[in-house]
Amino acid sequence: MHSIEILLADEQATVDLGYKLAHACQRQTTIYLHGDLGAGKTTFSRGFIRSLGHQGNVKSPTYTLVEPYELPPWQVYHFDLYRLADPEELEFMGIRDYFAADAICLVEWPEKGAGLLPEADLELDMRYHGEQRKVTLTANNQYGSELIKRLELC
Ligand code: ADP
Ligand code: MG
Repeated sequence: MHSIEILLADEQATVDLGYKLAHACQRQTTIYLHGDLGAGKTTFSRGFIRSLGHQGNVKSPTYTLVEPYELPPWQVYHFDLYRLADPEELEFMGIRDYFAADAICLVEWPEKGAGLLPEADLELDMRYHGEQRKVTLTANNQYGSELIKRLELC
């Protein structure tokens, strides 16, 4: 499957990646964000969500599990499943309803919801690289691959 690695030299580079990827989205999109605490998952999400028109803060939905943003034509759902104790909680919150036709879902700590989340179009693996970060983007389908291609063009 299509995969690329990008060096993120500083926080702004992480924000910019989110910004560009948001603009590349053309239909319902699910993006998994892997990486240790502090790897930059929320920083990426902030760039992504601001790029689609949100002007306020992007807070980490650590306690609420999900933060919704109404950003026409999209509904953006930013998940952070770090504190998910039991994957069944996802059933209770009606997880499948979030992955609707106009939804873009960003999921931090998707491994905590394994088996209950829809498959991702694209997965980001964020890692520490000294003071900087490295990210590997992996497409899981044709659409994910198109997202990577559009990213490479800009
Ligand atoms: P996570 O959501 O993965 O736990 P956060 O985005 O909340 O991580 O935090 C990442 C931290 O690392 C922030 O303090 C941010 O300023 C910093 N950071 C983000 N991207 C980079 C980067 N490319 N290089 C260096 N520091 C970064
Ligand atoms: Mg986070």
